[in-house]
Amino acid sequence: MSEDVSSKPLPELAEYALETPLNCHHCQKVITCLHVVRLLRTKVNFVSTLPRRGHVIVCPECRRILSADLGGMT
Ligand SMILES: [Zn+2]
Repeated sequence: MSEDVSSKPLPELAEYALETPLNCHHCQKVITCLHVVRLLRTKVNFVSTLPRRGHVIVCPECRRILSADLGGMT
């Protein structure tokens, strides 16, 4: 099993309410909001065209990653 991180604080965390409650596909709980954590590029070994930042969407109940995107929030 992976390490339980649910008791650790996340410094860069934003909360977004869901318009409709949804089931997390990891823990199967009904969630009414999502947590968004910023993703900052820290290392690149070539001239990268990848964006410098992005975000990860995590379940507020189990904190597993539901989705990740590069390019920031628009
Ligand atoms: Zn979950």
